[in-house]
Amino acid sequence: MTVRFPGDKNPAVTGRRKSRHDSETSALRIRGGRIFDPTTGRRGETGDVCILNGTIVPSLPAAAPILEARNLVVMAGGVEVHTHVVGPAVGAARLLCPEDGGRCLPTLPEVGRRYARLGYTTVMEAAVSPLGARSAHADLDDVPIVDKGIFILLGNDSVALEFIRDGRFDVLKEYVAWMIEATRAWALKVVNPGGVEAWKCGAHAPDAGKASAAPSGAPGLSPGPPLVPAEVDLDATTLGPDLTPRRIVTSLASAVRDLGLPHPLHLHMNGLGLPGNAALSLRTMDALRDLPAHFTHVQFHAYGGRTMKGFRSRAADLAAWFDDHPRATLDVGQVMFGPAVGVSADGPALYRLHRANRRKWLNLDIEGQTGCGVVPHLYRESNLVSGLQWAIGLELFLLVRDPWRVFLTTDHPNGGPFSSYPALIRLLMDRTFRQEALARVHPKVKERSSLAGLTREYTLEDIAIVTRAGPARALGLERKGHLAPGADADVVLYNPSGDAEAMFATPAVVLKDGVVVARDGEIVQETRGRTLRAVPPRGQGRARTALEKTIRDRFERTTTVPFEDFPVPDG
Ligand SMILES: [Zn+2]
Repeated sequence: MTVRFPGDKNPAVTGRRKSRHDSETSALRIRGGRIFDPTTGRRGETGDVCILNGTIVPSLPAAAPILEARNLVVMAGGVEVHTHVVGPAVGAARLLCPEDGGRCLPTLPEVGRRYARLGYTTVMEAAVSPLGARSAHADLDDVPIVDKGIFILLGNDSVALEFIRDGRFDVLKEYVAWMIEATRAWALKVVNPGGVEAWKCGAHAPDAGKASAAPSGAPGLSPGPPLVPAEVDLDATTLGPDLTPRRIVTSLASAVRDLGLPHPLHLHMNGLGLPGNAALSLRTMDALRDLPAHFTHVQFHAYGGRTMKGFRSRAADLAAWFDDHPRATLDVGQVMFGPAVGVSADGPALYRLHRANRRKWLNLDIEGQTGCGVVPHLYRESNLVSGLQWAIGLELFLLVRDPWRVFLTTDHPNGGPFSSYPALIRLLMDRTFRQEALARVHPKVKERSSLAGLTREYTLEDIAIVTRAGPARALGLERKGHLAPGADADVVLYNPSGDAEAMFATPAVVLKDGVVVARDGEIVQETRGRTLRAVPPRGQGRARTALEKTIRDRFERTTTVPFEDFPVPDG
């Protein structure tokens, strides 16, 4: 007998009903699809994927129910390595930008549905202040279907900075573990290390407007002094000689390594959006060459030129560095033309954007822990800076040789909404489509980037790597991003098409934990999804007690939240 899913119109997707003793979803054979599973080396060979109780298994009895996948492309569920969809910053952005209408700032239920409709089944919120963790988790509970987690911000946290300044690295490590546990986070994120705190203390604020340094629609400025100010440097001593950004990132990356967290330090480098910041990025990457690190939205950190007038790509230099350093991973933070919303803990970078695009903005001070800025923005094809940012992202995708280390993101909603991923996939897979798009952008983009000369086209295998296998591996999600036995049964079936955008915009079937949640772009069942958290080893005895006393004292002195109310409780 044929199983009909709600709204079932596609005769390719059918199956036999299970016996009445089976639960509705316990066993399922996805039969005869073309499997793209880079982790197990399958590159489109025809085969079956067997599911039992939400997990991929090696085989099933012949009588098991069948989901016919003949002629369909089969991949693991997509894994989002970096997005901004929950927590106080995103909530503030929704308040500031009601005109967005959900395009870049979807409601919480719509976040889960929209990701699931695109075939994404795991989503990482990349920036939550420790004090925002409780609110972020409450938000996550309202995001259906997908599994999800948060990264916690400590690169400008006054307690962490004090331990780093004083060289108390064992205590710092214990503090990181305590914070990951208290906030139920998956990873440690650092945004503009030390730079947000320095800015909050008054460094390099007064000239930001004159510098007009943000990635913006502002017209070119006359040549002048370099726009990357001395305060924005890896060895800046604004916070003191023992608290340089170099020392902050290497200390925290070492702590993450020593704790054995599943994901390395997730780093948003200093100097975001500034012309000429590529030199600083390269020095930062070199400083972390022997430590595990993931560099996020690298597109925003790959700029040459000394002023906005000279703004140009240095993607090739950064890509060459990644080719030479096989431990490092990056996500791109691709810019897509159209409306976007800057939402970042990098208060100074968003302030510069606001001064440049002259749009409304919002700043939150997170009680000595981090910063937060929100600015709406519009990326235009006709604008040189927007066009270059778009080209630089694509250059990074096409120049970094190993797809296992470059992941597909738009830094949603900073570079554009995640709903534009199918269009981005087409830009990567279809050179003609890309050249047509390049022909529409500002003519100088061709002179100031290498995109016009890049002929590489991503294969379906490459797409499977940059959207699921690679991010899952970098995140340390052992049950995600692949279809080997033991993996979570998060599986996506696509109708193959010469139009990659159409193919990836509307998967034929999306399964989450073995349950069909979407069909032909429609949600058919709204499951809950899990919240993923890392559990680092914790110190014992006197050291732990002393650390908790330090944290408690700090809360009592400077924080509006009582210490007892800070750790996120079970449930
Ligand atoms: Zn981000």
